[in-house]
Amino acid sequence: MSTIQSSCAYCGVGCGVSVSSTQADWENVERTNLMLTGDMKHPANHGHLCAKGERLLDSLAQPNVLRYPMLRSAKPINWDDASSLIADKFAKTIAEFGPDSVALYLSGQLLTEDYYVANKFAKGYLKTANVDTNSRLCMSSAVSAMQACFGEDVVPGCYEDIDHADVIVLIGANTAWTHPVLFQRILAAKKANHSQLVVIDPIATATAKQADLHLAIKPGADLALFHGLLGFLADSNSVNHDYITAHTQGYDDIIESAQQLSCNLASLAKQLGVSLAALTQFYQLFIHDNKVLSASCQGVNQSVIGTETTQAIIHCHLALGHIGQVGSGFFSLTGQPNAMGGREVGGLATQLACHMGFSAPEQQLLANFWHVDGVANKKGLAAVDMFDALAEGKIKAIWIMGTNPVVSLPNSKKVAQALADCPFVVVSEITPDSDTAKLADVLLPAQGWSEKCGTVTNSERTISRQRGFMMPKGQSKPDWWAISQVAQKMGFKGFEYKSNASVFKEFASLSAQVKQTFASKVFDISGLANITQQEYDNLAPTQWPIASAEHIGQTGLRLFSQGVFATPSAKAQFIVPKSLNAGATADTAETIVLLNSGRSRDQWHTMTRTGHIASLRASIPEPIIQLHPNKLASLSLTDGDLVRIDALDDMQVDSKAQNKATARVVADEDMPANIAFMSMHWSAQFSLGKGVNQAIDNRVDLLSQQPGFKCQPVILTRV
Ligand code: SF4
Repeated sequence: MSTIQSSCAYCGVGCGVSVSSTQADWENVERTNLMLTGDMKHPANHGHLCAKGERLLDSLAQPNVLRYPMLRSAKPINWDDASSLIADKFAKTIAEFGPDSVALYLSGQLLTEDYYVANKFAKGYLKTANVDTNSRLCMSSAVSAMQACFGEDVVPGCYEDIDHADVIVLIGANTAWTHPVLFQRILAAKKANHSQLVVIDPIATATAKQADLHLAIKPGADLALFHGLLGFLADSNSVNHDYITAHTQGYDDIIESAQQLSCNLASLAKQLGVSLAALTQFYQLFIHDNKVLSASCQGVNQSVIGTETTQAIIHCHLALGHIGQVGSGFFSLTGQPNAMGGREVGGLATQLACHMGFSAPEQQLLANFWHVDGVANKKGLAAVDMFDALAEGKIKAIWIMGTNPVVSLPNSKKVAQALADCPFVVVSEITPDSDTAKLADVLLPAQGWSEKCGTVTNSERTISRQRGFMMPKGQSKPDWWAISQVAQKMGFKGFEYKSNASVFKEFASLSAQVKQTFASKVFDISGLANITQQEYDNLAPTQWPIASAEHIGQTGLRLFSQGVFATPSAKAQFIVPKSLNAGATADTAETIVLLNSGRSRDQWHTMTRTGHIASLRASIPEPIIQLHPNKLASLSLTDGDLVRIDALDDMQVDSKAQNKATARVVADEDMPANIAFMSMHWSAQFSLGKGVNQAIDNRVDLLSQQPGFKCQPVILTRV
């Protein structure tokens, strides 16, 4: 039996998998001859997998695989003609309307090599930074906060900190469902070390039920919770003044407003919606020389104050001098398998490759490296703005890769209409059945997990190889290859890649130049700049920074441990929050429900890869919306009713019954009085109803442009 090591296709834990075959010949291997287990040697999971990961091979029985490029008429087209058509449409659109009339919308499912080539194509050659990613929807508020506080998008800690922490604080994270392998590690550490688990979440989630302390704060109250904690640390003389003086700036400007909250804990507790005893218990965990590890996820990020909330969490660790220290500090849980890798190559419209911004020297370095006369010279449109521009007719050609914005973006009805009206839509997908694929003028067959090869970076900065082990179906191709074909048809030099390894090597060489020019940049894979094909093929999971080839295989790294940060002053920043009074949710009328969306345990994103797996569908077979029984009674609804879900703003302008989210009501004692939960997964493809994002409006965090998917006021109507 021979074995190939790869990585899981789903969440940001980034588990390693071992795929074994009873067939000696991998070229023609049959799925039924394969076996998948967790990779015992991978530092992210040490052999463990969750239910979704264990069923990865089942995802390959995709009922309708896209095998050939197709036109909207469902007419097949060959790759040569398809890439010529795309090149021609993009070139003509840019010639007539300028570079910003085109856009690329990418995905945390893409491999780093795909992401790199897409960004080079858009920012270096099309001269537009209108290239954003669905990662904007899951972690961009954490990115903005880390950039503001640390000077760069850098997660300081590593998974090993879980094993050393005295207290683990999960904020807005149902880790038991969304990062299951990491949660099992947390439970194991809790048992072995008697560490305490605190969960901050309005809902009594599966994660909260395992906590030593669950703070069921009001939605949006976490900013005040952590800003008040900063004041409490100062009040109790627990802050590390030496560290603050030597390694930070802005503390004196921020502490007064923090202490205004902490000076009356009873009042603060009432504002947050928790008991004074629980609040005090939580705050005291930080002042007794404990090693406290805080990890936040979508509950924090998907908020209109997500950046400031994350900053408030970081401030508390800075005040204690606990950043980059063993078992303590701030950690951001990434949603997707390669959200981090996308950020590294400039996958967000708001940054350039290798964590560079848009300053003139940074632009020039990139232009010189790519041998072009200039690159995009300003930030592009982030996801929500990008699709608004599409709806307004300002963007006239878009290429969407590996994501399903018709289901996953807020106000998804508007997104669908914008794509239907757009003059030219290209979609790269593994199936023609996704709601977005159905709106494509040109549909390109992308290689899926098991076929494609490249690298991904997980939440703790570990770069892992994703290796193919099945023959690609039909004419499916890597995304980097498809972009390169179009780029060459447009006459661009620099896209003559022979392999994914050659793309990665170029990216690592760019990193070397960036590090040489901007020494304070923390992101660094310069040690891989001379990587050979064989070394790339054999690359072991490695955590960055990778300054030398000798670092291959390293793990357990912590950053900023010496108190030297990536800001111009080398000091971390305290930033005064402006939204303290904007976050907490006002008590709403009896007829209104605050809708919270998120993931369920057994599905992935818009279900294009997991919706057909019967064992994963079994736990929640249809769209449901969970509410407390008392709330149901007050709305004259009963368990099992089918309801239409209208966003409040939408109700005021459009009360028609069609195209609203619909779901079956489930009574759930774990829900707070006025909050409903519905998963993000459902689409027209997998249910009669419409997905939750039909009822979510376009509010975003103005600092990160991340949509505020949580806390949407809605009205439920029985249908
Ligand atoms: Fe895959 Fe995440 Fe499960 Fe690991 S925890 S097996 S990466 S879905």
